[in-house]
Amino acid sequence: MKDLPRHKGKRKQLTDLLASKGIKNKAVLAAINNVPRHLFLESSFEEHAYQDKAFPIGADQTISQPYTVAFQSELLKTQKGHKVLEIGTGSGYQASVLVELGCKVFSIERQKELFDKTSLLLKKLNYKPYLSYGDGYKGLPTYAPFDRIIVTAGAPFIPEALKQQLKVGGIMVIPQGEGDTQTMLEIIKHADDDFEIIEHGDFRFVPLLGDKN
Ligand code: SAM
Repeated sequence: MKDLPRHKGKRKQLTDLLASKGIKNKAVLAAINNVPRHLFLESSFEEHAYQDKAFPIGADQTISQPYTVAFQSELLKTQKGHKVLEIGTGSGYQASVLVELGCKVFSIERQKELFDKTSLLLKKLNYKPYLSYGDGYKGLPTYAPFDRIIVTAGAPFIPEALKQQLKVGGIMVIPQGEGDTQTMLEIIKHADDDFEIIEHGDFRFVPLLGDKN
């Protein structure tokens, strides 16, 4: 669990690369610069951690590409203290970036193996999002409403429960589409029945799957 000067150096290079690719939000770049991404991968894959690439994390899942994490985080326009719901905890990296941004993070994962592994890791790293094992399509009604919702798997449609659990004035960022690529959507909730949808280009995600149970 070491974060050495060489890791910090590579992380700074990655942050500069993301800025050169168009990420402007200084708080997002600072968060990426602070989270030790190499600790979210198996130690033998450490050298891949600061490349701008997605990477397998087990259970047929991936840690998202840093550019995608930065892009989604930027679209969320979070403020300190915001309650943010993430669907698809995976490695816990995106959740940790949101914690670094000062958000109160709630995250749902449907794969038990990843939920267990990530719960342990985040405790060790002293990141403290609320992690839930379950079906992200249902959101977390007990803790709703949320200022922001981020979905980190490709959703075939926009889940109704998530629209309901978003605060009026809130933003949901969700990659939507059933094929190989999804369109990144920024959804602004103006009123209970008034949602504005802004498209932000194509991305590639593993699919948001249905409930296992
Ligand atoms: N945010 C993650 C990170 O920082 O490592 C990457 C997420 S990975 C691209 C997508 C994750 O969504 C996988 O861990 C997958 O198991 C999870 N997932 C897929 N369908 C889900 C669902 N219905 N509810 C919750 N999680 C789901």
